[in-house]
Amino acid sequence: MDSLLNRLGISDRPSGVYSDHWHPQPEGAEVESINPATGAVIRSVTLAGRGDYEQILSAACRSFQIWRNLPAPRRGQLIRELGAALRLHKRDLGMLVTLEAGKIVSEGQGEVQEMIDMCDFAVGLSRQLYGLTMPSERPDHRLFEQWHPLGPVGVITAFNFPVAVWAWNACLAAVCGDSVIWKPSPLTPLTAIAVQNIANRILEPAGLAGLFPLCLGTGDTVGSWLCQDRRIPLVSFTGSCQVGKLVARSVADRLGRSLLELGGNNAVIVTPSADQELALRAVVFAAVGTAGQRCTTLRRLIVHESIIDPFTERLVGVYRSIRIGDPAHDDTLMGPLIRLSAVERMLGALARAESEGGRILYGGRRLERAGNFVEPTLVRADASMAIVREETFAPILYLIPYRELDEAIAWQNDVDQGLSSAIFTERLREAEQFLSARGSDCGIANVNIGTSGAEIGGAFGGEKETGGGREAGSDAWKAYMRRQTCTVNFGTQLPLAQGIKFDLGGG
Ligand code: NAD
Repeated sequence: MDSLLNRLGISDRPSGVYSDHWHPQPEGAEVESINPATGAVIRSVTLAGRGDYEQILSAACRSFQIWRNLPAPRRGQLIRELGAALRLHKRDLGMLVTLEAGKIVSEGQGEVQEMIDMCDFAVGLSRQLYGLTMPSERPDHRLFEQWHPLGPVGVITAFNFPVAVWAWNACLAAVCGDSVIWKPSPLTPLTAIAVQNIANRILEPAGLAGLFPLCLGTGDTVGSWLCQDRRIPLVSFTGSCQVGKLVARSVADRLGRSLLELGGNNAVIVTPSADQELALRAVVFAAVGTAGQRCTTLRRLIVHESIIDPFTERLVGVYRSIRIGDPAHDDTLMGPLIRLSAVERMLGALARAESEGGRILYGGRRLERAGNFVEPTLVRADASMAIVREETFAPILYLIPYRELDEAIAWQNDVDQGLSSAIFTERLREAEQFLSARGSDCGIANVNIGTSGAEIGGAFGGEKETGGGREAGSDAWKAYMRRQTCTVNFGTQLPLAQGIKFDLGGG
């Protein structure tokens, strides 16, 4: 472990604060980074205090002044170098994600691959920040829009994607001409420090230290300061709906912009015509992957009543074979929950489910060993149960029978969140109904694919209490820029729009 941390530049007593240099003695409290698979402390990290925060903001504002003047394709070159550096460190950074966040090896590596994919996407994007030209209604006029850099962007991230979500934001924001201040989750400070070190190898020689400063802190301190800070035009927040609502109010109070990627309560519908083998594999990955700690984790499985019993039987069989254990072992499929309180929340949710009439079909227990290990759990439920409508960030899957597809789609939509959804069917009509305006109300709607594991090429995000934000691909970059509509009169007359006359007379 020590050699891994050394290679990633993490010292015995790391500082969590980088403005245009590492602050050797930040003013904030200490947090412990704990390995969720063993309960052992990996390192203690010092957080930012108010003075550190002010230095970071100054550095980010200064670097924004320089960075915004560089042509976007040159900004893209820096992100290309970041992508190359991440390729070099993929194995180590991914292993640190495994160590600190408890993701299995393949998912830890996948997270770094997602960062690399974002770099590649952003390099291309740096030559495609297109504005439209519209025909003007006035003679000798040109009407068009252009996109300018926005300013320093605050990025607040959740523990469960400790590095990829930074890249979603930072890569786009950087080619758009913004600097980025990052406040990661205090549960995963070391991965953030490692990312900062990798970025610094590119930024410092280019004289751009301060473009991506790191400000580790709690929600009450750095999180709130970022939300209230008028120097930050955009706060991109990833986390729970509960905290997201606080963030949205706080940023709106100063009429800033927020980009919200909040919780999900995702469902899959399995119809009688479905390829059940395909559905089974997709369901297990979506429900059990990352130990149920993805925003896109499958939480509700709505299966046609004619097939639910045999399908459940097969599911229980697969659940029995899930290899739970040390996430650093290559053959492990499910690692631990992030902390003990998450285990307690899971057990509390299961007790509630039983009290509301649910029946545990498989799992339901904490494993008697060090670390926060639980059994992946299947619960027979019905759509009227209140607990089914909540996001419990743990591997609980509720199985709900349906009779009519309209009813299944209505249940799938009948939750506060609107992130990810899917249908398994071989019938075109059912698939198209699910994707139509009267179908899924989620930001993501899939056919014959599970709810989790999105590619970066599409815009990622969800509706309703998921917050409405979009990040990563497609035109998500527009959130990180300001749009300017421009009209140029190259004639000698001053015609007014809508034919308005404003005759000043002979004078
Ligand atoms: P969380 O809401 O507890 O914390 C998220 C971040 O918010 C952390 O950095 C935390 O320190 C910070 N924070 C806490 N209070 C704050 C405040 N008052 N002001 C500003 N920041 C504050 O979430 P978590 O437990 O780290 O992550 C799990 C949640 O995140 C789940 O609900 C999951 O669905 C969601 N999530 C959503 C997405 C998405 O893209 N939609 C992705 C990952 C996680």
